[in-house]
Amino acid sequence: MRRHDALFIGGTWSAPTGSEVIEVISPATEAPIAQVAAAGPADVDAAVAAARTAFDEGPWPRLDPAERIAALRRLVESYGPRRSEMAELITAEIGAPISFAQRAQVGLPWMMMTAFCDLAESLPWQEIRPGRYGADIHVRREPVGVVAAIVPWNMPQFLIVTKLVPALLAGCCVVVKPAPESPLDALLLAEMIEQLDLPPGVVSVLPGGADVGAYLVGHPDVDKVSFTGSTAAGQRVAQACAAGLKRVSLELGGKSAAIVLSDADPGTVAGGIRSASLSNSGQICNALTRVLVPLKRSHEFVDALAAEMEALVVGDPTEPATQVGPLVARRQQQRVIGYIETGQQEGARLVTGGTGMPAGVERGWYVAPTLFADVDNGMRIAREEIFGPVLTVIDYRDEDDAVRMANDSDYGLAGSVWTADAERGIKLAEQIRTGTFGVNQGYTMDPYAPFGGVKSSGYGRELGREGIESYLDTKSISVAVPNS
Ligand code: NAD
Repeated sequence: MRRHDALFIGGTWSAPTGSEVIEVISPATEAPIAQVAAAGPADVDAAVAAARTAFDEGPWPRLDPAERIAALRRLVESYGPRRSEMAELITAEIGAPISFAQRAQVGLPWMMMTAFCDLAESLPWQEIRPGRYGADIHVRREPVGVVAAIVPWNMPQFLIVTKLVPALLAGCCVVVKPAPESPLDALLLAEMIEQLDLPPGVVSVLPGGADVGAYLVGHPDVDKVSFTGSTAAGQRVAQACAAGLKRVSLELGGKSAAIVLSDADPGTVAGGIRSASLSNSGQICNALTRVLVPLKRSHEFVDALAAEMEALVVGDPTEPATQVGPLVARRQQQRVIGYIETGQQEGARLVTGGTGMPAGVERGWYVAPTLFADVDNGMRIAREEIFGPVLTVIDYRDEDDAVRMANDSDYGLAGSVWTADAERGIKLAEQIRTGTFGVNQGYTMDPYAPFGGVKSSGYGRELGREGIESYLDTKSISVAVPNS
């Protein structure tokens, strides 16, 4: 049993002001694995005050960008040797299969840190443009200020890193609030940040629940909120930010469509969709959970998907061969099982999986990989984000019908098209209202590709140059040349 009694406030470890403790439970064994001090409002006040002072008076925002880049490259170095430890923590706290944890939960954000530093090196921090009236216009990119970074549990390190590192590169001071299900990886990252000797106040990490998040969002000294989570919470965050005219970016839920064209190969499509949608036990925001297939070849694609899903190794997430682990919490398991029951009541055809425990598993918050066919795009299982290992197959008559159904969603986070003709795929991609899209692949997280959504999937972009720019404001200084 691990214990963390201190909070990381402004770069040092401090005793919490309250006595509330977060109990971290293993989703695989259902046994407690750690106790972590939870932040309360007074801790948020202290972290925000430290960040405010660091931003208004400290050196961090005023450094040359190259000095901030150098500091974050040091983080890359100290992170490298601790990747295994980090992956094991994530597997323990959220049940992510260890192979996925090593590759995507930890390897990916580690690689991204370097990519963000490279992007910051090529960013035009300042340029001089000729003005209309003879003055020189100095266009400066300045940090937005104190940032609240709020993340969910499903990709905890990835989501912290893709907010924290770009915000720090921009010169912001950051208060990170991890989800109560996944504080352990965030605290390990805080240990590494402590070693960087950043100026006081620049980074805080405050584990806590939604109440702590809401208090942080509402704090008058926070300038920008970067939020990843559910659409319902995102709406509340947007309302709170509107009241204080705070900048806000929202990475929210999804119900993305994979459009399979008639020239696609069923085996390739099924393998690609399985990997894009069922890794992390389907708890992925950009999972392709609506598979749109041509009516005439529907059975071929359904059979291929069912074969892929039935071959998945479900079980102990610490085993290297495991592909599907438990869901993060009992409530998430019950929610997903509820959707499977709804799908059956709505008249969808259950092809594989269902509400029972997967074979060979006795304990833990597991759900069997579940495939529904003959789904109507109006059914709840096709409209609502399930966030578990459940896929729906929807038949379309022609390409126009497929495009219409892909767009007929409250969400607009990701999507993909599968075809032997990439040009045809790109043309189709242009017709889908979504922030990201893949041609012959699920949308892969590329550090150079801006990521984010439209509609109920939120607004703002992370990754790419845009991911740093979202922590920058633009200032114009108009310089008149004397006596000219
Ligand atoms: P959630 O919205 O319940 O919680 C997310 C985080 O926000 C947690 O840290 C939580 O404590 C905090 N929070 C909740 N209510 C808050 C409020 N009113 N003010 C401030 N903070 C608040 O989400 P969840 O169920 O834990 O996570 C899953 C959701 O996250 C899914 O909908 C998924 O699609 C989404 N997600 C989106 C992306 C993306 O990039 N678009 C990535 C990962 C996950």
